[in-house]
Amino acid sequence: MSRQISSLLAIAAVCVTLAPAPAYAQAPKTAPVDCTQVKCIALTFDDGPGKYAGVLLDTLKKHNAKATFFLEGQYVKSRPKYVKRMVAEGHELGNHSYKHPDFTKIEPWDVRAEIKKTQDEVKKAAGVEPKLLRPPYGMADLTVSDIASEFGMPIILWTGGSEDWKSKNVESIKKKTLEVAKQDGIILMHDWVKQTVDAMPSIIKTLQSKGYTLVTVSDIVKKENLEPGDIFPVPAGWEN
Ligand SMILES: [Zn+2]
Repeated sequence: MSRQISSLLAIAAVCVTLAPAPAYAQAPKTAPVDCTQVKCIALTFDDGPGKYAGVLLDTLKKHNAKATFFLEGQYVKSRPKYVKRMVAEGHELGNHSYKHPDFTKIEPWDVRAEIKKTQDEVKKAAGVEPKLLRPPYGMADLTVSDIASEFGMPIILWTGGSEDWKSKNVESIKKKTLEVAKQDGIILMHDWVKQTVDAMPSIIKTLQSKGYTLVTVSDIVKKENLEPGDIFPVPAGWEN
């Protein structure tokens, strides 16, 4: 190697070493969780960020738990600081429409607009775009699947629900959540239900004492190799 080239390489090496760490808005890099090795569960919170999202984020942080938030664009717009915090603290974001219409009952171009507007609001609030779609009410058909695929997103439903929006009772929410909890489960909850947020410290502690690691949806579905437009878990009667 010529002396000139080797000294250039040396300078390059010094520059790389001295370059300050970039200040990304993304989650701090932690070792990824391998759900084929540990007992994983994903808690998911829909329709937010709800007004209790800050308290929920404090609880998740305290217990070193990760969650996935399927956000409504209209609330991303009104509560952007929570969205920013979700990303900064390592949680995953999903798209849950802009104003929560049933995607199977509106025109395809309106579905596209609902998704796009929400992607844009999240990008504006937190600098990232959701990579998962959960249509309102979990309602999807082949048209919705095609549109999800245009956006490069799989459709994520749930394996069990806390029924928090129905009971609005701390004890019932806790009981139901623990009843449907299972390895690699995806649990539906809502951060606009105050009783859900109140029940969270106890739910997280109980799940962790049963050996669960609370992870994001992407951690759970990693081994499924989902393609854009795929739906998971596949609902009964769904044919692709
Ligand atoms: Zn919803």
